Amino acid sequence: MREENRIPSCQRLYAEINLDAIRSNLEQMKAGLSPKTKIIAVVKADGYGHGAIPIAKELENFEGLWGFAAATAEEAILLREAGISSPILVLGYVFPCYYERMIEEEIRVTVFRKDTLTELSCACRELEKKGIRKKAKIHIKIDTGMNRIGIKPVETELDFVDRAFQTEGIEVEGIFTHFARADEADKTSADSQLSAFCSFLKLIEEKRGYQIPLRHCSNSAAIMELPEANMDAVRAGVAMYGLWPSEEVMRSCGLKDGTPSGKNKVSLTPALSLFSRIVCVKEIGPGEAVSYGGCFVAERKMRIATIPAGYGDGYPRGLSGKGYALICGKKAPVLGRICMDQFMADVTDIPEAAEGTLVTLIGRDGAEEITMEQLGELSGRFNYEFACCLGKRMPRVYIKDGSFSSLWEEGQNF
Ligand SMILES: *Cc1c(COP(=O)(O)O)cnc(C)c1O
Repeated sequence: MREENRIPSCQRLYAEINLDAIRSNLEQMKAGLSPKTKIIAVVKADGYGHGAIPIAKELENFEGLWGFAAATAEEAILLREAGISSPILVLGYVFPCYYERMIEEEIRVTVFRKDTLTELSCACRELEKKGIRKKAKIHIKIDTGMNRIGIKPVETELDFVDRAFQTEGIEVEGIFTHFARADEADKTSADSQLSAFCSFLKLIEEKRGYQIPLRHCSNSAAIMELPEANMDAVRAGVAMYGLWPSEEVMRSCGLKDGTPSGKNKVSLTPALSLFSRIVCVKEIGPGEAVSYGGCFVAERKMRIATIPAGYGDGYPRGLSGKGYALICGKKAPVLGRICMDQFMADVTDIPEAAEGTLVTLIGRDGAEEITMEQLGELSGRFNYEFACCLGKRMPRVYIKDGSFSSLWEEGQNF
């Protein structure tokens, strides 16, 4: 039975994020790393929808953590404003208007364009005029096959590396690449990206004599399945939140019914649950339609419950007529179309369901569980995307050491 009193009973909808699960998922990944490999916790897109700030605060003292990765300059600044003092790397391109701020706040910028080097150097001089003497710490991005951002791992690009090392005001702290297909069962593509990266590192070291302290390439899938790619650091994203990078990785690493099923044994715990409460229960008769478009028409007498969650909260409209919620430990199928803020579910066979009853949209209720992977599949949404799309208008509630710890709402300082 849930401890009803540990959560706000007046919330129409809220996400419960278990910080203990996030720690445990990181521990699981860390267990497969060599002690010298540091972890970069990826908290982009507001921590994959889980809340970047509370998670970063929780993990700052995690043993073996190097720091955090964000996707944008704004995300990195929000972390600094919240008091996060660990290193932060911005994984995407940062526009020049942010360079002074990045240097001042010691936020690491990903670099792959020559103009960035020049502009960072300028920003550094500007800061010096204001009495701030800091270097721009950069990580050079190598494109080994994504064809997204990065310089090519070819000998002619050693000029770029030279320029990075020779530009006044710049400190080359890291170098990294990103796998396009590490989450597939066949690692041929990931292996060839890895060897392209390693060859380029060798060129840098042997032809130029540069030592770059932080070399990293692994995402969650590679952490779990490509131990040879763990260098000075790894970037842990989706798996930290207890989500699987892909079906293939889950099959090869996951536990089936609590027992190891594949070669690598990783037990991930989903960190996020999503709860709501029934606000209206009513009976309808045969021939009555439910929701917009009248897509669902009852064939018999039914009891239906209205649940105050909808696509405005990131509960996808694609679940119309397909999804289900858990009520009193039983499955309640979605009836008709999901609206922006509400939807209806069938509680004909759940007589205990009443106004005020807790509804589990994602998570566990008794023996039943709904995962983000399942809802993603039903609604045609990738699990990463499902997490990121969860609406900002619902509060996030945090569980730590097994009990309710705090509430985070937009605009509220944690
Ligand atoms: C998002 C991202 C990651 C994390 O990937 P996961 O699959 O979530 O572990 C790592 N590196 C880069 C460059 C990314 O953009």
